[in-house]
Amino acid sequence: MHSHHSHSGQFCRHAAPGTTLEDVVLAAIDAGFTTYGLSEHVPRYRKEDLYPEEEDLSPSDLLATFIHYLHEAHRLKLKYSAKIDLLVGLETDYITPLDITQLERLLSDKQTAGLVEYVVGSVHHVAEQGIDFSKDWWEACIGSFSTHDNGSTPPPPPSQTQAFTNDLAYLHAYLDAQHTLITRTHPTIIGHFDLCRLYIPQLPLNHPSLPGVWEKVVRNIREVVAYGGMFEVSAASFRKGWQEGYPGSEVLQCIIANKGRLCLSDDSHGPAFVALNYTRLRAYLLAQGVTELWYLASNTQENNNDSNSNSQVRGHDGSSRSVTGTIAQEGTEDTRSERSWLDLQQRKLTARRYDGNWADDPFWTRLAERERRNNAEMAT
Ligand SMILES: [Zn+2]
Ligand SMILES: [Zn+2]
Repeated sequence: MHSHHSHSGQFCRHAAPGTTLEDVVLAAIDAGFTTYGLSEHVPRYRKEDLYPEEEDLSPSDLLATFIHYLHEAHRLKLKYSAKIDLLVGLETDYITPLDITQLERLLSDKQTAGLVEYVVGSVHHVAEQGIDFSKDWWEACIGSFSTHDNGSTPPPPPSQTQAFTNDLAYLHAYLDAQHTLITRTHPTIIGHFDLCRLYIPQLPLNHPSLPGVWEKVVRNIREVVAYGGMFEVSAASFRKGWQEGYPGSEVLQCIIANKGRLCLSDDSHGPAFVALNYTRLRAYLLAQGVTELWYLASNTQENNNDSNSNSQVRGHDGSSRSVTGTIAQEGTEDTRSERSWLDLQQRKLTARRYDGNWADDPFWTRLAERERRNNAEMAT
């Protein structure tokens, strides 16, 4: 099974401190993943965009850390290639247009271009304010939209019972930022599509009180489908208290209806988070009727299909459907046109459809056994 989105304490200040990227990789191998994507955050370029825990750092420190990450990730990719297909990517930010121009530079610069294999396109800011860092920050963000509308009147605190009108401008801004990111950079995978609902998971996006919002959701989805991008279904929402994965069922069904490609992510922030809530993710996917999953595969493994290292990968979880076992049947290869730096072949990856019934993958049995063992240990 696969995950396409993760962070480590070594390269991300808000992930588990004292743990390394290699710890994450070892946890992914132990969990039985056959494909695991590493996707540390891109650097941020303005001092004011650094998070409180980064107070002692400068934007140039973030850039240096990020370049160090790319090299370390490739070292690990090679070191563990017989056991797991590690993908080396990044997760975007879009705070101001500067983030897009710098991302384009990162993906074309000689020093970094060849090292980034794929991009998780995420928006974590609206109106230059973080929306997932804390509930206080999110409330400040929503509040800023209210004050824009009515001058000096302090905004009422957002609440679940309040009419959705306070959220309207915020949602439009989020979806417009996501649209800009999508059209400008064509991310390989869209990260947590509806992160804007993090603190308001009960908020429907398709609602008469929110004119124009659903149209923008559909617009963004169709844009991604048109260039052949994928949408992650992430287990990270469960640890934030959601009853559904990201995206919620409303958006997920719209992606399916528009023939969007789905892939899986744990968005782990340290070894203890690897595969966390994947059992719930599986149940969510089944309840939503998801029959088709996609994943990225390194072309190096595919091209060396008969090598010993690949048979080890194939035997890793005893599955005939592991990375190299999932040789695409005719018609399951990614044939949609992709452009410039997004060309996966150029990036040395191929998008593949899971061959067979994904829910029967031995990964899930192994995961359930691990969870039973852990629960038993905790009970004693
Ligand atoms: Zn994110
Ligand atoms: Zn992330």
